[in-house]
Amino acid sequence: MDKKDYYEVLGVSKNATDEEIKRAFRKLAKQYHPDVNKEPGAAEKFKEIGEAYAVLSDPTKRQQYDQFGHAAFQNGGAGAGGFGGFDASDINLDDILNDLFGGSFGFGGFGRSRGSSQARSRGQDERVLLNLTFEEAVFGCEKDIKLNLDVTCPKCDGKGGFNEKTCRTCGGAGRVLEQQQTIFGYMQTQKVCPECRGKGKSYENTCDECRGKGIISKNKTFTVTIPEGVDDGYQLRLSGKGNASRSGGSAGDIYVEFKIAKHPLFERDGDDIYLKVPTTITEATLGCKKEIPTLTGNVILEIKAGTQHGTKLKLKGKGIKSPNSLMRGNMYAVIDIIVPTKIDRKQKDLLQQLASTELDNATEFKTFKKYLK
Ligand SMILES: [Zn+2]
Ligand SMILES: [Zn+2]
Repeated sequence: MDKKDYYEVLGVSKNATDEEIKRAFRKLAKQYHPDVNKEPGAAEKFKEIGEAYAVLSDPTKRQQYDQFGHAAFQNGGAGAGGFGGFDASDINLDDILNDLFGGSFGFGGFGRSRGSSQARSRGQDERVLLNLTFEEAVFGCEKDIKLNLDVTCPKCDGKGGFNEKTCRTCGGAGRVLEQQQTIFGYMQTQKVCPECRGKGKSYENTCDECRGKGIISKNKTFTVTIPEGVDDGYQLRLSGKGNASRSGGSAGDIYVEFKIAKHPLFERDGDDIYLKVPTTITEATLGCKKEIPTLTGNVILEIKAGTQHGTKLKLKGKGIKSPNSLMRGNMYAVIDIIVPTKIDRKQKDLLQQLASTELDNATEFKTFKKYLK
């Protein structure tokens, strides 16, 4: 067993008096109570403290523990169940806490924060997928999005009714106590009042518009400004524009995601743009100047004599400026040599003359021929 020494857990000496044990526990319980301490591991620590105190505050158990250590409570030493055979039903931590701190401490009365934070949860987030054309994504645009959202009921102003009165179920506290079985035995825990949903108030007349819920469903239209350069997978957050909370908390957010249509010519890779430039054999062989489109209008591309298929010609800064970069990407004109499939008689003659001249001495041909021998 990897259990920590109970005296160590409470930070007291083996000879500590009952009063010292009580004081140490009191201090630690306040510090690690799950209602006030939200740090990870606090709940485990709190249980550990409770267990240590339950043993050391009981003269019989303390004596057993002093004599046999943790083994005193294992394998049915004091009954089965609980942690490592610890008899959980012997301890009522709620009683202990109330004993020590009076009614103001303990699961029943302490830490209103948990109850009220549950009662005031945020509204739900909403996700929306927006289809954009290639140009809309590249240059940015404004779009209307239509959504069905929970909104605060305008008739009752979110209250759910009229002629307010104190909730009879919880007496206005917004929370009710509930018996719950835990490792410490039966304990009282708080939960949000099911009658008033934590508001502490109820109404003589229920609002007929929202049927008491305080919110209604409504179609809403938002005009969204989409920055230039968004891409598939980008996400735009509209803070606080989502569903209204059902319990008076803040509204949720809207997350806009994008689906971008393909362009017939331009291909995007991050911030860069690729454009295939259809080129004839003669253009590539002799070199030429060719007018090509870019994102921002036509430019003249110079293709040098002897340019090969697949050559990438860089047009600096002619790419996309994405929302998270300061620089504009580049454009690459990719030479795409198209071999003619329909030629007339004269063209055929000319090509046959060309073939008989054996123009090409490129190393690729030489190496290839070498292996034919
Ligand atoms: Zn209403
Ligand atoms: Zn209530």
